Amino acid sequence: MQARTGRGFGIKVMTMGGNSNVKLISDDGIRVDGRKVDELRPIRIEAGVLKRADGSAYVEFGKNKVLAAVYGPRECHPRHMQNPAKAIIQCKYNMIAFSVNDRKRPGPDRRSVEISKIISEAFEYVVFTENFPRTSIDVYIEVLQANAGTRCAGLTAASVALADAGIPMKDLVPAVAVGKVNDQVVLDLQKEEDNFGQADLPIAIIPRTGEVLLLQMDGHMTRAEFDQAIEMGVGACKRIYDLQKDALARRYSVEKSEEDQLEEAPAETQEG
Ligand code: UDP
Repeated sequence: MQARTGRGFGIKVMTMGGNSNVKLISDDGIRVDGRKVDELRPIRIEAGVLKRADGSAYVEFGKNKVLAAVYGPRECHPRHMQNPAKAIIQCKYNMIAFSVNDRKRPGPDRRSVEISKIISEAFEYVVFTENFPRTSIDVYIEVLQANAGTRCAGLTAASVALADAGIPMKDLVPAVAVGKVNDQVVLDLQKEEDNFGQADLPIAIIPRTGEVLLLQMDGHMTRAEFDQAIEMGVGACKRIYDLQKDALARRYSVEKSEEDQLEEAPAETQEG
């Protein structure tokens, strides 16, 4: 096991960094799940999936299934946490008990506290929090099924849920993990690659400005590999961004047609 910087808990700490012997990419460049090195898993994004939340989204990144719900901006309790100048963002990332192979013990742990913190901080930079002093914007991310890359799927979902709640933001936030497996830079690691790969580098960007909003790294890469990983990750984030926008467009075009139908109904009654 190699020493590491930044995050890394549980299974990953025990495995990542020293297992380049596990063959995860075939000689013709195909990965264990049939993808090429620069290929994303199939992604599905749906906006507005929960009626009770102010905003919500459901995201699948391959076998990852993640639900995000947003409440607020609403008065912040307890009051001592209020900021008179801006809203605070409180994100809770949670993996539910049946989301992984071994039952996940319910409740927060070091990893979920860390992920909640980095996602809250990411959104504090994107949301126009100064528009809503003394309030809290609560973001819940529930991982229903995990297969590596859940923080990225969670961020992607939460950003769509915030937009669905009508909360003003600089932009949507797409995220994806890039990594190093069998000495090659690969996009969107799935579980085996995450566990037995040499590096994992989740990245989130603000597409409109090109800013990198989140960047973490487990494991080791050369400078050239790092540059390649960033380029690959940013390119993939732009593709995810299009899917996020498409999910919101679908959500609101459906709403509009329902409204249109309601508007048309009384007219028909009058005529009758
Ligand atoms: N994982 C697990 N049990 C845990 C934590 C994680 O099986 O208690 C798995 C899960 O599939 C997760 C993966 O390990 O997606 C990688 O976890 P990591 O900490 O790298 O975060 P992620 O890649 O999900 O953002």
